[in-house]
Amino acid sequence: MRDIRDNLERVRERIARAAERAGRPADDVLLVGVSKTVDAGRIREALAAGLGALGENRVQEARAKIAELGRPVPWHLVGHLQTNKAREALELFDVIHSLDRIELARECDKRARARGRAVETLVEVNLAGEASKGGVAPGRLAALLDALAPLAHVRVRGLMAIPPEAPAPEAAREWFRALAKLGAQHGLAELSMGMSADFEVAIEEGATLVRVGTAIFGPRPARPAREREER
Ligand SMILES: *Cc1c(COP(=O)(O)O)cnc(C)c1O
Repeated sequence: MRDIRDNLERVRERIARAAERAGRPADDVLLVGVSKTVDAGRIREALAAGLGALGENRVQEARAKIAELGRPVPWHLVGHLQTNKAREALELFDVIHSLDRIELARECDKRARARGRAVETLVEVNLAGEASKGGVAPGRLAALLDALAPLAHVRVRGLMAIPPEAPAPEAAREWFRALAKLGAQHGLAELSMGMSADFEVAIEEGATLVRVGTAIFGPRPARPAREREER
């Protein structure tokens, strides 16, 4: 099947053009292909076409896929993480995008120490204070970062956010800009922001990781509402 290869090529071109508009090198931006609900066969096609990182939002689903596909590229956890799944998440994932509270960070630190390897993380920020989403409130970010600083086995590389759903990509710009400002304030280099609908705007505003599912793998089947987020 050629569709995934073609989609990936198109996404890459769009990333390159957005980076160029922003005066940034295209390889500043890591494309994380979000493969939730996508079966291993289609993920393999994307890997064969050169996709360099995969993202999943649920530990259980990732476990099955990693058992089948192994780890030819790094796996990123982009969804909410329950504290009692931290140990398993650390075994499966190379980067956790959804660190948002100190209890979770302490558990990650403990488990990472036991494994003898620090975990790479991004702190998720709930920019618009949406009750349906994880993430630390912007006003509490500084305190959370202070609390994370002494945890030797938790490396905070940057920030992540999922802005409110909007009818047009431009609407996300102000949120992306807000996240970039927070990142700069705290000297954090990585910004995980932008999905299929708005990754170009995110790159213009400084994204260094974009999390793209649909534009690579095609539309996902709808999930029952209560399964949408793993909590
Ligand atoms: C599903 C998901 C994505 C990808 O969404 P698309 O709109 O399909 O690109 C990105 N980030 C997170 C956290 C997700 O859950």
